[in-house]
Amino acid sequence: MAVIKNYSCEFCSTTFNSEEKATKCETTHRKPLKICSFSYQPKSFFQTQNYPNIVRIEFEDGIIQSYHIL
Ligand SMILES: [Zn+2]
Repeated sequence: MAVIKNYSCEFCSTTFNSEEKATKCETTHRKPLKICSFSYQPKSFFQTQNYPNIVRIEFEDGIIQSYHIL
């Protein structure tokens, strides 16, 4: 019986056949540093109006990404 060993990226759960590949995948994921800003829709728009519909996050490499509720 052959034993097959796989390695999984801790961040995206992609599986690899070597530890080196999984470690390399983990190093590609940028980690969030802080929330730069956020905004809300008017109260009458969505059921989720108590939560921001747009959040801008700064990542460890200085890039700022915007996340929107669909
Ligand atoms: Zn990954």
